Amino acid sequence: MNQYKMCSRCLLDTTVKSISFDDNGVCNFCHSHDRLLEYYSQNDYIRKKNFDNLINNIKINGINKQYDCIVGVSGGTDSIYTLYMAVKSGLKPLAVYMDNGWGTNIATENIQNAIKKLNVDLITYTIDKTEFIALQKAFLKAAVPCIDVPADVAISSVLYKIAAEKNIKFILSGASFITEGTVPKEWSYIDGTYIKTVNKLFGNSKLKNYPNLTITKILYYTFVKGIKQIPFTNFFHYDKNEARELLNKELNWQYYGGHHYENIFTFWAIGWYLINKFGIDKRKVSLSGPVRMGRLSKDEALKIISIQPPIDNDTTAYILQELKLSKEEFDNIIASPNKSYLDYKTSYNLIRKAKPLIKFLIDKNILTPVIYEKYLGY
Ligand SMILES: [Zn+2]
Repeated sequence: MNQYKMCSRCLLDTTVKSISFDDNGVCNFCHSHDRLLEYYSQNDYIRKKNFDNLINNIKINGINKQYDCIVGVSGGTDSIYTLYMAVKSGLKPLAVYMDNGWGTNIATENIQNAIKKLNVDLITYTIDKTEFIALQKAFLKAAVPCIDVPADVAISSVLYKIAAEKNIKFILSGASFITEGTVPKEWSYIDGTYIKTVNKLFGNSKLKNYPNLTITKILYYTFVKGIKQIPFTNFFHYDKNEARELLNKELNWQYYGGHHYENIFTFWAIGWYLINKFGIDKRKVSLSGPVRMGRLSKDEALKIISIQPPIDNDTTAYILQELKLSKEEFDNIIASPNKSYLDYKTSYNLIRKAKPLIKFLIDKNILTPVIYEKYLGY
């Protein structure tokens, strides 16, 4: 597709390579959103019924246990609100924070305030920073937009690991297609094999301590350990602005200025790197969710993305210094041809072959259709 085109309903456009449009100019991601909405109905009555069932299920499973679910916390709106709602619904969550060295002070304060006020235990998992930074550098050198994948894979892996150790069957996630859309897989393809490949090609050592998560491990956690990922915020009315106000009032929670901006690396990746190297503006994804739901007007959303995120040269200089990346190395990365996950060895073919099995597991309520929509739905 050569000609520029934007969806008639949401903000996604031909900067997403896998986008396609129907006769009315509505994109495939909007259709994917509508399919998810059928599964996670937002009709007040049905949603409440589903929510009550879920809570009962988690509670029954957690009888005589210290914790009945795990919530990964970053200090941002989604994760802290998930923790808040879990506690308010009578669950016994264990909070887990993965310290990858890039969290802001606001993020740490938000987590500390939340666990104190909600009386929740917290495990902080500190990643091997030398390995992690080398891996982030490798992803930059691979010239792919997915530079947050090392962090995404690690957090999923750590949550599964702790859940398995503590015999907890539910991992509650704050990610929501309603409030933040679904990131196209070419912008963020999350896969442990991909991590291995990029590290082998561009890394400087073997990954010894990095918590990778391969498909085999996911199968083990899902079928042997019976652990389920739940996109928790889809089960109740969730509006980010309302949630921020409430968290501020009740937990002394502070806002940091944007989706995922609680982490400096992610802030820079979204606000500078992806825009300047790939012409990718991830805010189009996160704003498309509320636009599709009619919670934000498209004009308002377009106004927001017309303003560049406030990232100056000092932030880029700081990132390069932390990554121990010279200006010359970085200039070479910026000048190198753009690649995608399809240029590297991943598990994508395997996932595609497993499509019928994945569908079956969704029908049996073992896997969430959110994953299916992202990797196979369009
Ligand atoms: Zn659309």
